Amino acid sequence: MAIRVNPKLIDELEVYGAEDVQNCYHCGNCSAVCPFSKEPYIFPRRPMRYLQMGLEDKLKGSLEPWLCYYCGQCSEECPRGAEPGETMMSLRRWLTSKYDFTGISRAFYKSGKVELFTVIGAALLTALGFVLWAVLRGGDINSYDGPNAFLPAASIHIFDWALAGVLLALLLTNCGRMWWFTLGRDKQLRTPFWLYLKKLYLLPLHFVTQKRFATCERKRPWAVHLALVVSYLIMLVLIMFFLDLMWSGPEIDWRVHVFGYIATVGLLGTTIFALRARLKKAEPLYAHSHETDWIFLILLIFAAFTGILQHILHRVGFDAAANVTYIVHLMGVVPMLGLEVPFSKWSHLAYRPLAMYFSAIRAEAKERAEKEAVEPTLAAQPVA
Ligand code: SF4
Ligand code: SF4
Repeated sequence: MAIRVNPKLIDELEVYGAEDVQNCYHCGNCSAVCPFSKEPYIFPRRPMRYLQMGLEDKLKGSLEPWLCYYCGQCSEECPRGAEPGETMMSLRRWLTSKYDFTGISRAFYKSGKVELFTVIGAALLTALGFVLWAVLRGGDINSYDGPNAFLPAASIHIFDWALAGVLLALLLTNCGRMWWFTLGRDKQLRTPFWLYLKKLYLLPLHFVTQKRFATCERKRPWAVHLALVVSYLIMLVLIMFFLDLMWSGPEIDWRVHVFGYIATVGLLGTTIFALRARLKKAEPLYAHSHETDWIFLILLIFAAFTGILQHILHRVGFDAAANVTYIVHLMGVVPMLGLEVPFSKWSHLAYRPLAMYFSAIRAEAKERAEKEAVEPTLAAQPVA
C-alpha cells in the first residue's frame, strides 16, 4: 500500500504548539529516559520521526501521544532543545481535532480568538435563553425556589440532562472515530471481541485514578489532577442526581451541601494552582501554554466563583441577586461543558483512558499474533 506523506504536517503542528521538531536529530535520549516508553510503544522519538517525515496516517493511528503524561524528563534531556514533551502535548491537541468530526475542535486549536468568541457567543445566548424563558413563564426574580421561582430546579434539571445527552453523543462519536483510526482500520492486527471485554476494567480505572501518571518522578501534577477529577465527579453527581436538594434553602442541607463544599474547595484549589503554575511556568507540564489552556482554566474558575456566590446569596436571603448570579454562573458552565468537553481540553478525560484501554488491547493482540506466527514454525521443525 502506498504511504501518503504530508510535507506540510510539521507546519500544521506548529499551530498546535510543536515549534521545535526540526531540531531533533534522533539521538534517542528522550525515549531512553521516558518512564513510559516500552515496546510496543516507543516514544517520543518515534512520533518525532513520523512528524519530520510527514507520516500523517501513522500519527493519526498512534496511541503514543496519549501514553505521555508530560513529566518533561525527555525535554530536559534533549541535547537539541527539540521539546519532545511539548511535541507530544501538541500531538494530543492535533489528534483531538482529528477525532472530532465537526471540525469545531480544529477551529478552536487553530485560533484562540475563534474559541474565545464562540465561548462568549455561547455565554450570551445562554443568558438570553434563560432570561427570556424565565420572563415568558412569569417567574418571579425575587424567588429562588418554590412554585414561583425565576428558574425552577426541575426545569434546570431537564436542561442538564438534555445537555449531558448531546455531549455524550458528540463525545461517543469522536471516541468511535478514535477507535477506527487506532484499531478499527488496522487490517493486519486481529483484535477479537473477547479482548475488548477482558481489558474493559482499564477504562474506569484510568479514568478515575490516572494511576500511570502517579509513577512519574514528580508526583504533584498527578495529585493535583486527581483532586480535580474527584472534585469534578462529585460535583457532576450532585448536579445530575441531587439538584433539587442542592437548590433548596435557604437552610444548608448538610446531606448534600457538605459534598458540594468539598468539591468546590477541590475545584477552586486545583484551578488556582494550575493558573499560578502556568503563570510562573513552574513545572515542565506548565511551561508552555496554548491559548486553549487559558480559556479552559478561566472558565473553570469563573464557574467556581459564581457558583459559590450564588450559593451564599441564596443562603443569606438575597434571592434576586442569587437568580442573577445563577444566570451568570450558567454563562460559564454551559460553554465550559458544551464546548470544552467535546471539542477542546476536557475531551482528554475520555481519550486518555480510552488510549490506555486500546493500547493494552493492541499490545496483547500483537503478542498473540507473534506467538501464533512462531508456533507453526516450531511445529514444522523435525525433533532431534
Ligand atoms: S527529541 Fe531530542 S532527545 Fe529526542 S531523539 Fe530528538 S534530539 Fe534526541
Ligand atoms: S514528557 Fe515524560 S512521559 Fe511524556 S514523552 Fe517525555 S518523558 Fe515520556
